[in-house]
Formats: sequence, C-alpha cells, structure tokens
Amino acid sequence: MSEEKPIDYTEERKKKDSFQIWKEKNPVPYYTVMPDGRKEPHLSPSRIKQYMDCPWAYAADRIMKLPKPMKSYLMMGNVLDEVVFEEFRHDFTQPIDDLVHLAYESLKQRMEEEPDLVKNDGTPYAPHEIIKECNSFRTWVRGFLEALQNGQDHEGHPVRLPQVTDTQTDAFWKLNIDGREVTLRGRPDIIHADGSVTDIKMASAAAPWIWTEGRIHSELQWIVYSQGLNSNKFRYLVLDKRVNKDRTAKKPTVRVITIDITPKDVEIFKEKLTTFLRNSDVLNNHKNGVFPPKPEYNGIATGFGWASKKQMLSQNNFCNKLCDFKEECWKQNFSANGTRNQTLDDYGYDLTIRD
Ligand code: SF4
Repeated sequence: MSEEKPIDYTEERKKKDSFQIWKEKNPVPYYTVMPDGRKEPHLSPSRIKQYMDCPWAYAADRIMKLPKPMKSYLMMGNVLDEVVFEEFRHDFTQPIDDLVHLAYESLKQRMEEEPDLVKNDGTPYAPHEIIKECNSFRTWVRGFLEALQNGQDHEGHPVRLPQVTDTQTDAFWKLNIDGREVTLRGRPDIIHADGSVTDIKMASAAAPWIWTEGRIHSELQWIVYSQGLNSNKFRYLVLDKRVNKDRTAKKPTVRVITIDITPKDVEIFKEKLTTFLRNSDVLNNHKNGVFPPKPEYNGIATGFGWASKKQMLSQNNFCNKLCDFKEECWKQNFSANGTRNQTLDDYGYDLTIRD
C-alpha cells in the first residue's frame, strides 16, 4: 500500500458544502399533474427502495444527479412492456412473427441512438455486439409470447392470466405518516377484469438475480401497485433470460408468481416508508436527510459472481452491490484521498499490471 497521507479536511468540508448546495438547487420533482391541472406530490416505490438499498447511491442519483450509464437490460424491459405487450394484449391469438421483429427493431434503434449505453464492464458496444443483444432479445420475446399464447412455457410452467382490461395505468395510494399526507405512485403493467394487478419482469435466470417468490419481500412495487388500485391480489409475470454456455440466448422460461397482500404486508410497508421519510427528509427537500454509504462486501467476487485479479483490490471489492456510482463512492467516501487505493493484493502481488 502507498504511504498514508493525512486527510485534507478542507477538501472534505468543501464536499459537504457543495452537497448542501446541490440539495438546495435541486428541489425534488416528485409530483404528478392531475387531470384538473393540480400538481400532486408523489413518491415512487423505486425511490424508497433505492434509499433502503443504499442512501449514498440514492443521493448520488437523485440529489447530486451524478451521470449514470444506460444498460441494455433496462431498454429490453421497456420495449417488452411498452411496445411488445402493448400490441399483443389486444389479441393473444395474433401471429407473433411481426411482434418479434418489432421488438428486435425497437431495441436496435434505441441501443444505436442511446449515447450513454455501455456494457456491464463499462465499455461501449461495438455494432456487432448490439446485433447480438438484439438477437438474444428476439429469442426471449418469442418464447414469452408463445408461452402467453399456449398458456404454458416450453417447460410446462403454467402461464395463464385473467382477462386484460388496461395497461400502464397510474396507481395512487394516499397515506398519513407522522401527521403528513403522502401520496405513493406506481404504474403497473397490466390491470385485469377481476381487479388484480400484474407487473412484467424480465430478468437474468442466474442465481443471484432470479425472480422467485422470496425475492418479492425485498421489493416494494407490489404493495404500492395493488393498494393504489384497491386490490389485494398481485402477480409478477416473469421472463427468465436464459443463456447457453457461449452466452447466446436460450429459449426463456416464463413463470407467473402470485401473491395475496395481507394487512401485515401493508404494515411493514408503512414502517419502511416512515423510516425513509424521517431519514431522507425528502418532504423537506432533503434538508436534514442523512445519506451514509451502505457497502456490502462479498469476498473478491465481482457483481456477476466470478473472481478476477483486479477484484482483489480494495477499491474494486469494497462493495459488491450492482451500482452505477462505485468509483465516485470509493473516491468520496472510502479512499482517504486516494491513500487507500491498493496496487498490491494482500499477498503482495502487484495486480495493476495484470488482468
Ligand atoms: S458502491 Fe455500494 S456503498 Fe457505494 S453508493 Fe454504490 S451501493 Fe452504495
């Protein structure tokens, strides 16, 4: 390790001051324009979840507004919900070839036009890599639509939904917390004739990210979406993005995970919301909010579960959460002005020149 240097507290102080300025300059745009023109303040479940996962990442994203890259999986999810399912929902018996082609073209156009798009390793896509991603997407979309048409996926998982009446509908849920009225807002993907609500999730089938019933309990959307639409029945329609050993796309599995919301679920949500409101001070423009970093160490594995030599360095392994602000977080919170940046691993090997 390089020689220890004293921390420059003037610099630390400057950072704090600029953070305060950011807070003041960026009032929270958390409102919806209602049909009568009124601006109704609201909070989204993703905002609360982001704070719960890591308050510093929340501040970096929503207060400091640090630049963050775009990832292809976000684009795939948007094309699936807003383009493919929107067309398909009117007639589940329609031929799917045109929709699969539409999915391919929409994703390709979005990926080609997005200036901030990067791969998981942070490097930009080459044109042939965009085509490869779009081809994978085509395979997954085809499997998804076939499962909906057949009432089951190719492995026999039942994929049956009640009649669809609407898609992408705003759900508002008003609560009183600490004497203040708070409106939660969500936008579930599908509303059914029986009043139940469904959200589509397209996710990796790899062990750390796969959607199972257990995962629901660390999510918040299902409570807000269902309560905002006066329903106690919620389901996730999950498309598992499966891949072969050579990373090419494999036919996906498609599963429906259904959950009935209980009063205890609502109670726990309200406690999480109360913690968020008090600690972030969001309703007061974050003025007295606290935003500590919450790193999670997971040995020397990368976020994708494999180990690399570079990952043995503190600046690369201090937190294994998937996070767009890792470099800045290390720099501002843990590096002690760069004095803790390792070049040697714990056994004395210089790792900066390898891997
Ligand atoms: S790197 Fe970890 S601790 Fe830092 S902002 Fe991201 S999630 Fe939080």
